[in-house]
Amino acid sequence: MADWWQLSVGTLKGVGPAKSRQLSKLNIFTVGDVINMVPVSDKYQDRRNFKKIEQLQDSCLELFSATVVSSSDLRTKNRLTLSKLLVQDDTGQAEIVWFNQKYRARQYKVGMKVVIAGKVKRQYNMIQIHNAQVDSVNNDGPKFYGCIVPVYPATESISQDFLRNLVKQALDGCTVISETIPVEIINKFVLISRKEALINLHFPQDWDMLNKARQRLVFEELFFLQCLLLITKKKHQACNMGIKHAIDGRLMQSALGQLPYQLTADQLIALQEIKLDMESKMSMQRLLQGDVGSGKTVVAGLALIKTVENGFQGAIMAPTEILAEQHYHTLSRLFACLGIRFALLTGGLAKTARSELLKSIACGSVDIIIGTHAILQQDVVFKNLGLVVTDEQHRFGVRQRALFQNKGISPDVLVMTATPIPRTMTLTVYGDLDVSQIKSLPPGRKPVRTLKYSTSRRKDIYDGVLRQLAQGRQAFVVCPLVEDSELIRAESATTMYSLLTENYLMGVPCGLLHGKLSQQQKDKVMRDFCDGTIKVLISTTVIEVGINVPNATIMIIEGADRFGLAQLHQLRGRVGRGEHESYCVLITDSDNEDTRQRLDYLAKYNDGFILAEKDLLIRGPGQLFGTRQHGLPDLRIADIIKDTAILIKARQAAKDILNDPQQIKQVLPGIALHFGNNYAAILNS
Ligand code: ADP
Ligand code: MG
Repeated sequence: MADWWQLSVGTLKGVGPAKSRQLSKLNIFTVGDVINMVPVSDKYQDRRNFKKIEQLQDSCLELFSATVVSSSDLRTKNRLTLSKLLVQDDTGQAEIVWFNQKYRARQYKVGMKVVIAGKVKRQYNMIQIHNAQVDSVNNDGPKFYGCIVPVYPATESISQDFLRNLVKQALDGCTVISETIPVEIINKFVLISRKEALINLHFPQDWDMLNKARQRLVFEELFFLQCLLLITKKKHQACNMGIKHAIDGRLMQSALGQLPYQLTADQLIALQEIKLDMESKMSMQRLLQGDVGSGKTVVAGLALIKTVENGFQGAIMAPTEILAEQHYHTLSRLFACLGIRFALLTGGLAKTARSELLKSIACGSVDIIIGTHAILQQDVVFKNLGLVVTDEQHRFGVRQRALFQNKGISPDVLVMTATPIPRTMTLTVYGDLDVSQIKSLPPGRKPVRTLKYSTSRRKDIYDGVLRQLAQGRQAFVVCPLVEDSELIRAESATTMYSLLTENYLMGVPCGLLHGKLSQQQKDKVMRDFCDGTIKVLISTTVIEVGINVPNATIMIIEGADRFGLAQLHQLRGRVGRGEHESYCVLITDSDNEDTRQRLDYLAKYNDGFILAEKDLLIRGPGQLFGTRQHGLPDLRIADIIKDTAILIKARQAAKDILNDPQQIKQVLPGIALHFGNNYAAILNS
């Protein structure tokens, strides 16, 4: 049977070299690929009931059989070709019309019996169907009538009936379709068999069976995905017998005791979960998720103190230099009185300073190292790394996470992200991590008021900024996202800087920040903004992540239509961090419907989780997080947004079965079948 699945698609009747080539463009090479093709979920055609012509309803998709009466091609006044086919049954006549498809109607001979599917137009007592699908029923070969038929994502050169025919042959030639899911799971979740499911996915007996078939196959795919993720996680844990940190001692107690505020309930719970992981002998693999401004930094900082207390070094890695610097300042200030040695390691470090620092890291004379990707470089050797915190995980791939694990003896790993990730995504993209969430913001925060204006209101907008400045506040201005080139972005920010400083904000101390500035220049601008010397910071999106200036109360986003929802939310999160009422002003002239929807969502919701769900709906999961980039396989039939309920069941099933390590062998073939031998091989190693 396996052989049949692996035979070349050319084995099937009707597939010569030319068709093989066309099929290869649809990624179909073998008989198995044909069977694994997934019909478009909402396009099945119900061809079980034929209507009479007199029953056809206006604007409905209808199916009927009839006999050809005449066919003709006409030239219209505006030089179109109008191809017409007149058909009839015992209740009336209908006209099938094609534009600019010469001789289309002539393919059908008078007296031929045909079946017609298409959207009906009734006008002047005449029934017309434009671009209908017309099939002759006199032809040889299997007929796809009297049943529900699939519609495949086909190319122009391959017809639906051709594909249906292939699938039918492939299924018919398949003597056995063996089960892949362990039988106890089939029973527990009341799934139909794989064989029944595949047959009904292509040629459903009825709608109910189609539904069951889809459920079963989605379950199967997600089940094996979850097995893949859970086995990966277990392997991590097994080969990463990690560091067993002790319960909190004096250093942790003084760190907690001297914080300038009380931790929120969510922060405490997250910290507790992290501590338990660190105190276990397994290595921690945890994701700390929290909306912008929810206070993740202090939680991560306390975890780092804990590893230091246990005699280890801690590292925290940020995606940008500015953010690394900010973490450095925040943490070294927050824990200044504890005698902990902090160091900042970024790419901008001078050669001698860098080699000095590397020596200190190697001999253990610094405790907490804060940096960018620079920490990942080969020459950075830690004396004894106990905990790694990576910030803004979604910018790093799974592979980099693995790389970090090779530095030192299986340190604990904490991944932080401010991009709220819908639950379905945490279960898939981050399925190998445990998750802690900080849901509520620190007390006293007011929601940021979000307003939308056109550029014609610029004067009013910046007058509003001036009023805030007069009250001692500060403002951000983010420049439109131009092309994906730092140089062009820098130019656009520079232009905006001139426009504002020479007009609307004349006389106000403004700073300009973009990726083309030198490290020293950036440092200076950021420092000046943080300490209030600069009142308005005009910048590209380099400030998107993490920057914390509680006195800033206005975020102006020029060209707001250029930004995605998640990014806008991140930008808005830069304000509303202090006790003052804050504003986010979106400037755009776009009247595009999608844009309007996106900006309206932003104005309506302050909760990053809700926005992330909306963003997923608008853009689809692939674009938001780039699952590919995370080293995850593509899904063929499951849709992690629509199939959440099944996803949760499949995860439970995978957990249940993998509780018994003996069962791993049982699911490996399924993983190989779905995601290829590469994945299965990794797990087998
Ligand atoms: P993010 O989760 O975006 O990294 P930060 O860690 O930058 O958020 O915290 C945002 C702001 O909230 C900081 O100014 C921080 O000092 C403050 N903060 C954090 N936790 C608390 C708390 N429990 N009470 C009051 N303010 C807090
Ligand atoms: Mg541990």
